[in-house]
Amino acid sequence: MSTSDHDNYRERDSEATFGDYGGQYVPEALMPAVQELEDAYERYVLNNEDGFMDEFRERMADFGGRPTPLQRADRLSERYGREIYLKREDLLHGGAHKLNNALGQVLLAKYMGKERIIAETGAGQHGTATAMAAAHLEMPCEIYMGRTDINRQRPNVYRMRMNGAEVNPVTAGSGTLKEAINETMRDWATTVETTHYVIGSVVGPHPFPKLVRDFQAVIGQEARKQIRERAGRLPDSVVACAGGGSNTMGAFHAFVPDESVALYAVEAGGSSLEIDEKNALAPNSATLSTGTDGVLHGAMTKLLQSEDGQIMESHSVSAGLDYAGVGPELSHLVDTGRVTPVSVDDEAALNGFHRLSNLEGIIPALETSHAFGYLEESHEELGEVVIVNVSGRGDKDLETVLEETEKRDLEAAPDVEVFDR
Ligand SMILES: *Cc1c(COP(=O)(O)O)cnc(C)c1O
Repeated sequence: MSTSDHDNYRERDSEATFGDYGGQYVPEALMPAVQELEDAYERYVLNNEDGFMDEFRERMADFGGRPTPLQRADRLSERYGREIYLKREDLLHGGAHKLNNALGQVLLAKYMGKERIIAETGAGQHGTATAMAAAHLEMPCEIYMGRTDINRQRPNVYRMRMNGAEVNPVTAGSGTLKEAINETMRDWATTVETTHYVIGSVVGPHPFPKLVRDFQAVIGQEARKQIRERAGRLPDSVVACAGGGSNTMGAFHAFVPDESVALYAVEAGGSSLEIDEKNALAPNSATLSTGTDGVLHGAMTKLLQSEDGQIMESHSVSAGLDYAGVGPELSHLVDTGRVTPVSVDDEAALNGFHRLSNLEGIIPALETSHAFGYLEESHEELGEVVIVNVSGRGDKDLETVLEETEKRDLEAAPDVEVFDR
């Protein structure tokens, strides 16, 4: 693409929609909040007013550890017969890409004169990143988390509390992410004047999808520069896992105008259960491949819903990919053919987990492992030079991986031995 096309792409940024997706589907009480945020997004993020973006970048370097390396994976390159490069977001402070967004939004809240931070969390990763950012910037912080998730994710609950955040249990419904988001929206509607809601992915009403994307875009901006230095050219493909889609959009954004670069979003294909619409249970979390259009959390996007429009509980071995929707921009990029959605099942993800741990000495998050599962299954189509975004590290997942690998009799990881516990 030429520079002028690049400029057009930028120009459209002030709009609230991506094709048919996005928008502001929020209750009246939240309109002032999203409008105020829209204004702040334009001033501070797009126009760097008061040096906002400079301070953001400086803090991401000193506190966050940016830039993260782009590392050539020697063993994987040899195994697959192509050049595999890893964008190491697992080395960012907190162990995942989530800090890019959390720190950006907490800092923005400060510039907006807000005094309090709220956020929702499912697996606890976004809550942890937000609590860290709030502690770093001296902002009081409350995290809403479903009761079920609190019980499943104790270490993250402790981490949030250590960083001074209050964790508010949500008991409604199944006590998971969906209910936690609703509860956070409810809080925000009554506290908009003092409070900023740090949303955890490229989802929600405009301007959140763009705001979060712009904070995460540093991943692809760095990678694009690094691969030119290392390989002397752009990659043939970029591969990233997709839950809500923030590490995906972050890794892809800088490459969208480069038409020679194929972009693969790898979703959680779940295990081989049948769809059970009566119990509103989807067998997977492959929203981009199998979802239909609808409104979720303030935006029109692709989502997992039953025929009568009920949001389905998604399923994945990785809690962080377990979300019934996906960012509106990613939905649009899939519809226009720019991004290719693919999915791999739980077994392939476990296989990818063991492969990277074993061959490269890097233990990836289960979310990230889906990208490596895809690499193992379909590397032939990815071209000569491939970048895989390592969205996070897997220390948090060891217990789950041991259990799930045992359950499956190790078929997913033939050359890994799991010892008795
Ligand atoms: C939360 C998380 C994801 C999924 O969220 P996205 O918004 O889709 O990026 C992926 N990888 C890791 C390590 C995560 O913590």
